[in-house]
Amino acid sequence: MVQSQIHRCGVSEKLYEVSGAPFAFDATVLDCRAEVKGGYAVILDRTAFFPEGGGQYADTGDLGDVRVKDVQIVGDEILHYTDAPLTVGETVHGQIDAKKRYARMQHHTGEHILSGLIHATYGYDNVGFHLSDEEMTMDVSGPLSAEQLKELEYAANRVVMENHAVIATYPDAETLRTLPYRSKLALTGDVRIVTIEGVDACACCAPHVSSTGQVGIIRIAESMSYKGGMRLWVVCGERALALWHTEHAALDAIARSFSVSRAEAVASVQRLQKEIGELRGALGRCRRELLLGRVREAAAAGERHILLFDCGDDANIMRYAAQEGAALCEGICVLFSSPENGVVRYVCISDRIPLRALSKELGAALGGRGGGSDRMIQGSVTDDADAIRAFFAGV
Ligand SMILES: [Zn+2]
Repeated sequence: MVQSQIHRCGVSEKLYEVSGAPFAFDATVLDCRAEVKGGYAVILDRTAFFPEGGGQYADTGDLGDVRVKDVQIVGDEILHYTDAPLTVGETVHGQIDAKKRYARMQHHTGEHILSGLIHATYGYDNVGFHLSDEEMTMDVSGPLSAEQLKELEYAANRVVMENHAVIATYPDAETLRTLPYRSKLALTGDVRIVTIEGVDACACCAPHVSSTGQVGIIRIAESMSYKGGMRLWVVCGERALALWHTEHAALDAIARSFSVSRAEAVASVQRLQKEIGELRGALGRCRRELLLGRVREAAAAGERHILLFDCGDDANIMRYAAQEGAALCEGICVLFSSPENGVVRYVCISDRIPLRALSKELGAALGGRGGGSDRMIQGSVTDDADAIRAFFAGV
């Protein structure tokens, strides 16, 4: 089933496709062209640089003393975009940025493990994949509950711990016809199959680690419903460990601030939220009583209108107090909020004077806006107590 021959793209051997793709290699420079946009495009007789494809960015690294910034397949050529020229015919040593590439291999194999398990367990397909150095997302075609995701994460990490071999092959046409494998597209011609022994087989062009143990850790960091299925954010290897450290430090800080163990931190936060809710309720009742007291005091002064400024920022409390004020005075009860950026909000209620027309006059005279019914209008005006008093003196 295994074709030992290394496959080519045009004149270049694809070393990045062999199992356990190498990070270093030697090659002969076949061509080097100056690019219109600057830099050079180098063609080698063989390369371990993975060209961008299948949702994964290209490798970066060095060819001798020259930096490789990007690698693309254009037509049937693998082009290494470099910052300086190389001499045609010379032998160069290629060195891929190994840490970055290894993390990508870990993530890509991790994605195959998870996608394979999801397909085998739920029949869902992988319908989207993106792998950068910051995050990996994978989209699956059906819904998964939090409990199912947890089970999948355990199962994926069991595959890691069992250390299955990961083998890339080009099966012959006859084998390929009968081989069950996952694929996003209907493929023809030579198809590279990445097999995780006993777990999954999937058509794929990217470099993978040579055994699942090298993935280290597979963690589903986030998930959300997406286009009828799910989008999963997955981290593997050291990146998973780094995420755990970040989260652990956050939980630790919360626990310390409550002087409790990490296991008790959630209960402490919930208790605090309950207390805050109760205190907010009590504070609201106090503020309401305070405002009612001011309204009654103003009413006792016997003025035609009740005008009160700096009544806080709770519209419900202002409405509640203005109702009472309207019942206690001959004219209108108007309550103004505490000013914010030179503007005050108002609640205006009257049991005797129709207010709807007044809201327009109020807006025109005091530079504001608002509206409502004949009994109650609400809105905002410029914070100018003297102008406001002068306006209502004429109502
Ligand atoms: Zn793949």
